[in-house]
Amino acid sequence: MNTSLVVGGGPNGLAAAICLAAQGVQVTVLEAADEVGGGVRSGEAIIPGLLHDHCSAIHPMAVGSQFLSRFDLQRYGLSWRWPEIDCVHPLDDGSAGVLYRSVQETAAGLGRDGPRWRFAFGYPATRFDALSEDIMRPLLRFPHHPMTLARFGAPTVLPGAALARWFRTDEGQALFGGVAAHAFRPLHYPMTSAIGMGIIVAGHRHGWAVAEGGSQSITNAMVALLSDLGGKIVTGVRVKAAAQLPPADVTMFDLAPSAVAEILGDRLPRRISRRFTRFRRGPGAFKVDFAVEGGVPWTNPHAHRAGTVHLAGSYRELAATERDIHAGRMPQRPFVLVGQQYLADPQRSVGNTHPVWTYAHVPNGYAGDATEAITAQIERFAPSFRDRIIGCAVRSTTQMDAYNPNYVGGDIMTGAKDIRQLTFGPRITLSPYAIGIPGMYICSAATPPGPGAHGMCGANAADLALAYLAQRA
Ligand SMILES: Cc1cc2nc3c(=O)[nH]c(=O)nc-3n(C[C@H](O)[C@H](O)[C@H](O)COP(=O)(O)OP(=O)(O)OC[C@H]3O[C@@H](n4cnc5c(N)ncnc54)[C@H](O)[C@@H]3O)c2cc1C
Repeated sequence: MNTSLVVGGGPNGLAAAICLAAQGVQVTVLEAADEVGGGVRSGEAIIPGLLHDHCSAIHPMAVGSQFLSRFDLQRYGLSWRWPEIDCVHPLDDGSAGVLYRSVQETAAGLGRDGPRWRFAFGYPATRFDALSEDIMRPLLRFPHHPMTLARFGAPTVLPGAALARWFRTDEGQALFGGVAAHAFRPLHYPMTSAIGMGIIVAGHRHGWAVAEGGSQSITNAMVALLSDLGGKIVTGVRVKAAAQLPPADVTMFDLAPSAVAEILGDRLPRRISRRFTRFRRGPGAFKVDFAVEGGVPWTNPHAHRAGTVHLAGSYRELAATERDIHAGRMPQRPFVLVGQQYLADPQRSVGNTHPVWTYAHVPNGYAGDATEAITAQIERFAPSFRDRIIGCAVRSTTQMDAYNPNYVGGDIMTGAKDIRQLTFGPRITLSPYAIGIPGMYICSAATPPGPGAHGMCGANAADLALAYLAQRA
């Protein structure tokens, strides 16, 4: 029987483990933390019973992921829930850009920008399932659906700023800009529309879903499936050197490239080691979870029904904050993402006290405390929010790094998503998961298709590992 070792039990490590175990490979997962799940975990943090997602919360890319659809995780307890409204981006005058799962409904709310929204996202959304066969894999290969990919792909090479300014209303500009800013890049840089377009189109097809019972349910379902397939998980083992790796036919690293280089040292070919060591980090995230009595008192009525609320004010202000954090400056009013998952999944609340998930974009390794900046940004769009706060739990950039070594300096994207790293991963090659040592692969969110709880980096890397095992047999 072939054996496999998976270092790191995040969603990509677990996906790789499941794909290998499903093909009869004996799998062991080694995880540094006391539990697997990486960026897909939930738990109590402030008051008993109040359930917070520690990292990943909203899952437009995961719901329709080929990996999650291939294995029936519903059978293992995963159930998706959708808020009434996917996302709201409020402005200072009380108006807002409102993103619904339906393209038509979104367009109808955007006035003069309605036809443009429909034009940009309508067709790719209807073709999203086909499109994802190409965009959720490495791009350097012949596409399955070239015309659909070309129609979707053409605008993705544009800076987010160009696409945002193509919209004519403040609401349309801010709505698109806020989603594009998920890339953690200055929006005037080329290709910064790509991540925003992917998330919007996936959302129009599958919605911005949350997992019932917290994102932890995604991990729990994967662990139960892996266990059914005979996989073994060992926690509390942080791999720091190659000597710690038990022999295995294939080894998968669900780690940042720099960690792979550190662990393998001289065993890694020099050219690959150089690329992995020079792999660029993105800015950081500063996370604050709140327990809020009665929920957030938003001025904009739509925000009361939205799973996600983006806080930055106008597109112009948003663009300035993203430029600042990239340059290492902490903005006075950072971009804040607010999650109200409890609206779709009320069991996360305790009575009228609700868990409100937030994080701000900050410079990588930001050493200050952004709690007040986040609170003030919410208060700006929801006066007297402060009065409703019962408690909060904070995770700074350095604590993020300690919680999960993949998030170096709070970089929750596992690497800057510049053109090169977003398109190719750690290095330019037809096979971005290969690391130059036969039978060893990197499968973290540093590789295509990048961050998210979709498991596709792990599943794609496992395909390569299985091909290697088949060819060796
Ligand atoms: C605050 C925050 C909010 C987010 N929001 C969303 C969201 O709403 N939607 C979404 O789709 N995604 C979101 N993400 C991103 C998502 O969580 C990640 O992209 C995803 O978890 C990456 O999966 P992964 O398997 O590549 O790595 P990780 O989830 O980072 O898992 C890596 C695992 O490897 C372990 N590990 C690291 N080093 C070692 C070592 N040396 N030895 C052994 N084990 C090791 C870690 O402990 C961890 O368990 C968010 C992330 C954060 C932090």
